[in-house]
Amino acid sequence: MTDEKHSTVMVVGGGIGGVTTAIEISEMGYEVILVEKSPSLGGRVSRMVKYFPKLCPPYCGLEMNYRRLRENKNVRVFTLADVLSISGEPGSMDVKVKLNPRYVVPTHDKYEAAIEACKVEVPNEFNYGMDKTKAIHYYHDLAYPMVPVVDPAAKDDPGVKEAIEASGSSSFDLNMEAKEMDFKVGAVVWAAGWKPFDPTPIGYLGYENFQDVIQNVEMERICSVNGPTNGKILRPSDGKEVKKVAFLQCSGSRDVNYLGYCSGVCCLASLKQAKHVREMVEDAEVTIYYIDIRSGRYEDFMDKIRADEKIHLVKGKAGNVTRNDETGQIVVHVEDIASGKTLKEEFDMVVLATGVVPSTKDDAIPMEGIEYDEYGFVTSDPEKTGVFPLGCVKKPVDVSSTVQEATGVAIKAIHTILGG
Ligand code: SF4
Repeated sequence: MTDEKHSTVMVVGGGIGGVTTAIEISEMGYEVILVEKSPSLGGRVSRMVKYFPKLCPPYCGLEMNYRRLRENKNVRVFTLADVLSISGEPGSMDVKVKLNPRYVVPTHDKYEAAIEACKVEVPNEFNYGMDKTKAIHYYHDLAYPMVPVVDPAAKDDPGVKEAIEASGSSSFDLNMEAKEMDFKVGAVVWAAGWKPFDPTPIGYLGYENFQDVIQNVEMERICSVNGPTNGKILRPSDGKEVKKVAFLQCSGSRDVNYLGYCSGVCCLASLKQAKHVREMVEDAEVTIYYIDIRSGRYEDFMDKIRADEKIHLVKGKAGNVTRNDETGQIVVHVEDIASGKTLKEEFDMVVLATGVVPSTKDDAIPMEGIEYDEYGFVTSDPEKTGVFPLGCVKKPVDVSSTVQEATGVAIKAIHTILGG
């Protein structure tokens, strides 16, 4: 390693936070390398039905950012990219990146014909595995880059090869291999995001045993027009329209046995989804079981929800979730704190409001000296390491707070490469 200074910033994570900070840095005249693990930019926001504060659909914010990216020569985007190692100090850092194969070259030759001819299906990762997609597919309909990907687990399936041959496309190369690249940068922004808490180990919530007990992130996909049900609120087990739905707040959260903190965003997510169900399904009835509702600065939104007589807010934590085998309904057993009674109510579907786990809990930043708290959130001082944590790798935050923070982090990263 040399102590030569570098004026490029690497941004790791192509969600709304990473993309925003990459654009801000590049539009101030500095070079940015933006790396993203998945086949497309967009992150969790691209999987939401709408997001606060204005309840816009994801394409509102993403389209604008993608346009700014396309017009910007200072950003180089690498998808399907994993950071293997980071070394050095603020101003002079070495980063090794592994580029995983897409098996498609961006020549745009007969993509559609190959996708059309492909009959091999794989679990649709973008929809959290709730449906299937073709082994040759676009990651989602807002993908950036808008280039298909061949699922690595299916690339040796003879059906995939046959589809490519039948299409006559010259854009596919199933022998493509991973390669490594070395970059010299002055600072790294780590915006690798979050993943939903897995409620499977909490047996009494019924997530593992009942198809009609789902997580809030899955509900986002069910509500989305590009989701597994094309935006119709249908329950997974039998495709029946959902008329009666329960949300169980703090599913695993604020519990020292599972996720000991409040994620701050899952109350609003349930309120938003409850409103969406009421708008989409005539006479739908929603019950939200909660310990406290944390709506932060969105009190007005909360008041609108309270005014809807078909949305019931019940203070009480679910103690058990079972299934009535005769009716197929999901039964929530909960102690109603106001009345002191134990309630047993049946629903078409139950949504678990699960919390935010930082991606750094399981995928640590590959650099010596980075520190974390007991939950995996990054705590080290970026001025000392040169690695700036952004968004949910630092603490659970909503989309608008992440976007605001992204601008601040952009300025701090520039300050670092300038030797400040
Ligand atoms: Fe529980 Fe609401 Fe906090 Fe989420 S935001 S952990 S549901 S109190």
